Amino acid sequence: MQIVANPEMKDRTTLKMGGRAQLELRIDQEIDWEKIPGWMEQEGLNPLVIGHGSNLLVQDGNLPLLLIKDCRQRLVEVEELDENRVKALAATGCRLPVFLSWLQRKGISGLEGLVGIPGCLGGAIAMNAGSFGREIGNMIKRVQIWTPEHGLEWVDKDAIQLGNREFDPGIKGSSWIITRVELELFFRDKREILKTMKDNYRRKKTTQPVTSNTCGCVFKNPDPEMSAGYLLDSCGLKGHVCGGVAFSELHANFMINIGNGKSAEAFELISLARERVYNRFHMDLQTEVKVVQGQYSRDI
Ligand SMILES: Cc1cc2nc3c(=O)[nH]c(=O)nc-3n(C[C@H](O)[C@H](O)[C@H](O)COP(=O)(O)OP(=O)(O)OC[C@H]3O[C@@H](n4cnc5c(N)ncnc54)[C@H](O)[C@@H]3O)c2cc1C
Repeated sequence: MQIVANPEMKDRTTLKMGGRAQLELRIDQEIDWEKIPGWMEQEGLNPLVIGHGSNLLVQDGNLPLLLIKDCRQRLVEVEELDENRVKALAATGCRLPVFLSWLQRKGISGLEGLVGIPGCLGGAIAMNAGSFGREIGNMIKRVQIWTPEHGLEWVDKDAIQLGNREFDPGIKGSSWIITRVELELFFRDKREILKTMKDNYRRKKTTQPVTSNTCGCVFKNPDPEMSAGYLLDSCGLKGHVCGGVAFSELHANFMINIGNGKSAEAFELISLARERVYNRFHMDLQTEVKVVQGQYSRDI
């Protein structure tokens, strides 16, 4: 396990923003999980598990955080279930784009809708990430979860509650980390998979600022028929700038760091958007991006 002191959050988030945590524990092998409780007790810091940081908005300044990051990239196994179905077992530190390319080369289908999402597998599951009508949660057979109380244990899909960018493995207690996932996927022609992925990426690129410093969608869609982007756009917020932070010109629900953005500016933009949408539509927007302000809570 590697231990990094004073890790910079701007280097660990796609929004390129945020202050300094106190410590980062980087998991390289299974045995490292056993060392985590000791560090948690010893340091007395607030644990925050991070993936690729592509859905995080982190406060500036010194933060009493203990970052935990699964760095195991290449742990993928597959098992053929029948002529159509295949089981894929992967470590959740694996980057989603790397995993999707790997599946495509093996002729394994089911996650093509997730193309262009820059997270790690663990973050994608924790956020029940989805696009083009598919969510990763629908493909899960079971997940391996680590808790300080029980170590590693498998949780079957029946015990997992999934929702709109929500994943709840039904674990009681404080911290849990998804460490592995078993997905049920399908065989499909490699060229067809590649074509679907390319088409999806092309569509995504024309409607979302995928190459900017962004944290993805700031707000959840209030319901499947009403997009937060539409509400923000209707309130004149597309392209709205606050210091070094702005809502994208391409998609009003994407927040961008346009240069030296500060978290205070991002929070101001969020408050303004909520106020305008409430005043015009009487709707309370809920954040999709995970806001980290020292004392991290999954419920923010
Ligand atoms: C350009 C861009 C496009 C995007 N497009 C989409 C999209 O189309 N659809 C979509 O759903 N999202 C989208 N996102 C948002 C984001 O990429 C996804 O939510 C992604 O799955 C987050 O993964 P991550 O590894 O970056 O998680 P992080 O941002 O690091 O963490 C997000 C949350 O997951 C938790 N978490 C991370 N890893 C674990 C773990 N192993 N165990 C338990 N909890 C964990 C963190 O504590 C945090 O609460 C986009 C983001 C960007 C920047």
